[in-house]
Amino acid sequence: MEFLKVCNKYIPIPFQLDAEQIAIYKNWIRKHNCKYAEKERETGKYLIGGRLLWEFRPTDVGCFIEIECLCGSKLDLTSE
Ligand SMILES: [Zn+2]
Repeated sequence: MEFLKVCNKYIPIPFQLDAEQIAIYKNWIRKHNCKYAEKERETGKYLIGGRLLWEFRPTDVGCFIEIECLCGSKLDLTSE
């Protein structure tokens, strides 16, 4: 199982991400800035209830993956 560092903690990822998806995620999370991200960076802790919603939708043609921040910003990690 993969683990990704989120806010100084490693969280298990029950679905597999490839190296390109991980690189895209890391780049997005580093550059993404909003009041919620700032709060987590300041405190070094997750916001209660979590800031990021991970959505995995397996289908016959692949797994659609999207991450949404509480601010509404979204990252599509679906592979081509
Ligand atoms: Zn945000």
